[in-house]
Amino acid sequence: MTFKLHIGVLAFPFGTHAAPLLALVRRMAASAPHALFSFFNSATSNATLFNATAHDNIRVRDVWDGAPRGKPFTGSHFEAIGLFLEASPGNFETAIREAERETGLEIRCLITDAFLWFSSDMAEKRGVPWVPFWTAASCSLSSHVYTDQIVRAIESTETAKQEKALSFIPGLEMATTADLPPEIFLGNNASPLAITINKMVEHLPRSTAVVLNSFEEIDPIITKDLKSKFPNFLNVGPSILASAAPAAAIADETGCLSWLGSQNRPKSVVYISFGTVITPPENELAALCEGLETCRFPFLWSIKDHAMKSLPNGFVDRTNSFGKMVAWAPQQQILAHESVGVFISHCGWNSISESIASCVPLICRPFFGDQKLNSRMVQDSWGIGVRVEGGVFTKSGTIQCLRELMTTEKGAKMRENVSLLRKKAVAAVDSQGSSSKNVDKLLEIIGAR
Ligand code: UDP
Repeated sequence: MTFKLHIGVLAFPFGTHAAPLLALVRRMAASAPHALFSFFNSATSNATLFNATAHDNIRVRDVWDGAPRGKPFTGSHFEAIGLFLEASPGNFETAIREAERETGLEIRCLITDAFLWFSSDMAEKRGVPWVPFWTAASCSLSSHVYTDQIVRAIESTETAKQEKALSFIPGLEMATTADLPPEIFLGNNASPLAITINKMVEHLPRSTAVVLNSFEEIDPIITKDLKSKFPNFLNVGPSILASAAPAAAIADETGCLSWLGSQNRPKSVVYISFGTVITPPENELAALCEGLETCRFPFLWSIKDHAMKSLPNGFVDRTNSFGKMVAWAPQQQILAHESVGVFISHCGWNSISESIASCVPLICRPFFGDQKLNSRMVQDSWGIGVRVEGGVFTKSGTIQCLRELMTTEKGAKMRENVSLLRKKAVAAVDSQGSSSKNVDKLLEIIGAR
């Protein structure tokens, strides 16, 4: 196949950033078979994303992750991010040169994770469009776009801890400064990630289009505001509902789906997961366990092996008649199962999107980044869940949330709200929906139409 166009896609290989970017690339690649998409990402992240399936017009390209070569990396998640950012953009430049040499095709557009702000300079030097992809919700993007006003309004990071209303940000009036991603505030010891995000905010106005894995109808006020700030503000998701290919059947190696199938009441199971990075502290794990033991709703918990050691003595034995714990769960299929009634989540954007796609209301215990703001929207804007009382798991708070969502009218209302939101999401990815039209616009912008 002779390709007419070469698009460079630059991923951020941490948390769950690269997967939704790849989902978008797959959609575009299917619509533009004459375009070649080179997907630049760390080898470790690429290994988790790509299986043996051949992609006619997507090439997998590994870039150096910045970790010392030749020995296994044993540092923390945030240290790994720091090393990767130090190695960038040199690592990407090297891999791009190699891809251009190998294919004989110059890259004509850079679609990148929005965190990779330096791609705006790379695109400018090449005279090609820069299309940053924001992998989270529009609420958190908006909070970053309003960084200057927020910092001026509260004057110091100390007051940020007090609950000051964000009345000056359209669509975020119900949120407070305590909900904001901490990276907005550059203190004296700003982390590499905070510096990166602030640089991103500086560079975003130079983008040709800003793309999101969300849908306009979920946040109409924020969408209208951000459309006025960028030449093209394109919600193209949620990718979980947009995928053209039917979901591949999974082997159910952990037995989660058969276990769910053996539950005899619909919407009776509590599913628990804190995503790929987070493990709650030991005292909160204990409080969550006590809540689960008291309520005795059947539960399915995706819990990392190291966290199992921190659970209260005897918990697993005492709950094994109604609880199942696995180190990794097929989350999308679990949420889609009729037995699942509620999701206890850290409120990563992928988890929220998957919950909406399956009409499952949420109990929120957010930890870092955009998670607090997402949980504020879940509770006070979308009405599809509750935050745990006081922001941390306590026995009484856990019991209260579980009973509210599983047994009360209020819980039923949240279930109804999440169903309505799902309908809007489905309509957005329909052929004439807002997200599909935005994908068409994106294809036009990158020169693939
Ligand atoms: N996930 C999964 N099984 C698990 C835990 C997580 O499939 O046992 C997936 C989940 O479906 C979601 C992603 O991991 O797609 C987590 O993404 P999210 O944005 O919610 O959180 P992050 O891991 O980035 O903090």
